[in-house]
Amino acid sequence: MTGHEELDSFKRATEHKLRGLRCPTHRRPPQVCFTGSSLRDVSIRMSGCCGKLMGLANAAIAGRDGAIETRGDRADSDVNGAND
Ligand SMILES: [Zn+2]
Repeated sequence: MTGHEELDSFKRATEHKLRGLRCPTHRRPPQVCFTGSSLRDVSIRMSGCCGKLMGLANAAIAGRDGAIETRGDRADSDVNGAND
């Protein structure tokens, strides 16, 4: 598999995770933008209507084990035991 193919499948997987995700408040999907030419230096940039959507999008991408810092005034989801 070339780096390009890896990157491509990574993008696809990420988009798949976000598929169908909408802001519960504004009914808008997140916008995702990939930068970088290989899986090593790829970075994901997401934008959305509000912090709540960004939190949901981050959680969807990270999966249940991921811990991505989210911004937004109040998170609805519970953080399991993370007490840092
Ligand atoms: Zn929103």
